[in-house]
Amino acid sequence: MKAVAVFPGSQQVKIIEQDVPRLTQPDQVALRLLDVGICGTDKEICSFEYGTPPSGDDHLVIGHESLAEIVQVGSAVERFEVGDLVVPSVRRPCPHPGCLACRSGHQDYCYTGEFTERGIKEAHGYMAEYVVDHERYMNVVPPDLRGIAVLAEPLTIAEKALEQIFWMMQNRPPWLDPQTPSHERGRGLSALVLGIGPVGLLGAMTLATAGFTTYVYSRELPPSPRIDLVNAIGATYVSSQTATFPDLAAQIGNIDLVYEAVGRSHFALQALRVLGTNGIFVLTGVPVLQDFVQSDPAHLMRTMVLKNQMLLGTVNAGPEAFAAALRDLAAFRRRWPAVVRTLIAGRYPPEQAPALILGRPAGIKSVITFDAPVAGQSSGPR
Ligand code: BGC
Repeated sequence: MKAVAVFPGSQQVKIIEQDVPRLTQPDQVALRLLDVGICGTDKEICSFEYGTPPSGDDHLVIGHESLAEIVQVGSAVERFEVGDLVVPSVRRPCPHPGCLACRSGHQDYCYTGEFTERGIKEAHGYMAEYVVDHERYMNVVPPDLRGIAVLAEPLTIAEKALEQIFWMMQNRPPWLDPQTPSHERGRGLSALVLGIGPVGLLGAMTLATAGFTTYVYSRELPPSPRIDLVNAIGATYVSSQTATFPDLAAQIGNIDLVYEAVGRSHFALQALRVLGTNGIFVLTGVPVLQDFVQSDPAHLMRTMVLKNQMLLGTVNAGPEAFAAALRDLAAFRRRWPAVVRTLIAGRYPPEQAPALILGRPAGIKSVITFDAPVAGQSSGPR
């Protein structure tokens, strides 16, 4: 069977032939991969800036945004049967008995850093025709989400962030009624999304769905399909080429939430300066190391203290965020059917993966499909 792998030693990204994996434990399932999304992390791995093969291997099979069909179940599997659709989670727990996070099934909060991540860190990923995995890491997908469920994993980033934001909003400041329905929790509050890539756009859709008055800020100028998407979901797009952060703050008023999805430290630092009173700043982008920036930490500290601000970094996601992502994908489709049709820019055969990963991203999300027949490329959800 085919898989797409990166070889850090020889600095190659290529298709490899492998044996079809077999079940070795009763709680395992065999997956036939349908769709695997391409993201910025894959680009960094294929540029040899990030990612590590499993110990003893010279290569890493990439791919962590996936959708698969179960084709075989082990004798102890309880939740699934052949034919079910699933989205696997990415991170696997560390082995340390003392890691409370991993031992309680919350490896997205692992203390030791010795977790593995499929397709990223010391574990092969899902850009392969077949994969064997454990039942407990599978998230069930309703069959009618077949066309868009590959977007669930990148959406979990926003869902995990929102889970934490709502928790903070309910507890500090304490005036949000805990009974508020989820689509009204952001009512009366502003959210500023930094970045117009897939994580930023999916974040903007999540925040708009939660009732925030949502703004998206990035370099891009119109005309652009991504800016059209922002307008179509009722959010406001502002280009950094026409407005500075202080201009933006004057336009928005108190900025209650900043959702950073760029991974550029200079940009994030400027945005932190315009965060409003009681504001929460969420960092989701993993920056590559950049030039040293001169900063004014005393000014930042002063503002953060005097305005009760909060800075939150968030990575990876647990089962609740996957469930929320799948619920929200269905909600997005009900609310913005035309927008959802444009989210998947194209489906391509695995042979095109290296060029797509290393090239300039076209459209919103490019997907590698193992679901034959592939006629070169087909656009949009199925
Ligand atoms: C993935 C996460 C992962 C993170 C850091 C992201 O692209 O979506 O699952 O934890 O990279 O490796």
